[in-house]
Amino acid sequence: MAATGVAAIREDCEICRARMRPFALRGGGELARCERCGHLLRDLDEAPGAHRDLAYGGEPTLDRIRLDLTYRAMRRAAPGGTPRSVFEVGYGSGSMLRRFLDGGASIAGADPDQLRIDVDPRVVAQGRLSGGAVEDVPRDGADPVDLVYGIHVLEHVVDPVATLAVAFELVRPGGTVQFFTPAGDSDGVRLYGAAWWMLEDPTHVRFFTADSLARAATDAGFVDVEVRRPVLDSLTTDAASAVRRWRPASRPRGVLASRGVIATGLASAPLVLAARAVRPGLRPTLHLIARRPA
Ligand SMILES: [Zn+2]
Repeated sequence: MAATGVAAIREDCEICRARMRPFALRGGGELARCERCGHLLRDLDEAPGAHRDLAYGGEPTLDRIRLDLTYRAMRRAAPGGTPRSVFEVGYGSGSMLRRFLDGGASIAGADPDQLRIDVDPRVVAQGRLSGGAVEDVPRDGADPVDLVYGIHVLEHVVDPVATLAVAFELVRPGGTVQFFTPAGDSDGVRLYGAAWWMLEDPTHVRFFTADSLARAATDAGFVDVEVRRPVLDSLTTDAASAVRRWRPASRPRGVLASRGVIATGLASAPLVLAARAVRPGLRPTLHLIARRPA
């Protein structure tokens, strides 16, 4: 394979504008890393790590567990409890919007349909949905919402700065935004290198650090910016990355969806949780919570 990451290294950091440097991955290939905020960029044309054809690596039971955990994490982080109105950036199948709808909230969202999966019919019937990119959502006339959120979406979008700017416009003054995204400053990147599960998805074009994520939110005008590292998100990431790293020959495409890896992931969950509890650097996800000034 040719040298990778070259085009990204020629650019300044998309968040803080400092210089990007080559960041070599164990096992081959490289990313571009900001020398100031640690933000990681990937060269899409020459993405390191053998990757899948499809962006979707989910499995129904795990998706359900993840949905519940994420919903609770967002409710806990929202001031005043359950928000009465929400907007989801990248709603996918609409399952999270459905949770908020069942909880009594009015729902809205935008998704460029990158996953091409069916959307919950009640969400379609009762949600104010836009099929385009979030930057194209009409903001005039729409009521601002209590909560704007995106779950594993900032690592995919063309321009995360523009996405946060739109989120700022969509949320009401005093309202909250929350975003979940893979942690580019977690131990997994260094431990697993090119086999890191988060690199399996070819549409992951960047990885935030706690620093770059907080900077992006602050630059967008948000206050009370907080970045958490949830213990429970992406539980099977470690098992899937380990299989990629140490058993590459036996690795089927879309390895996370295979029964063996799911079983391994669930069996290893208590161990992974114990390790993550004492070592936050092992947690593979960042959870941004920020507020638009009242
Ligand atoms: Zn930077």
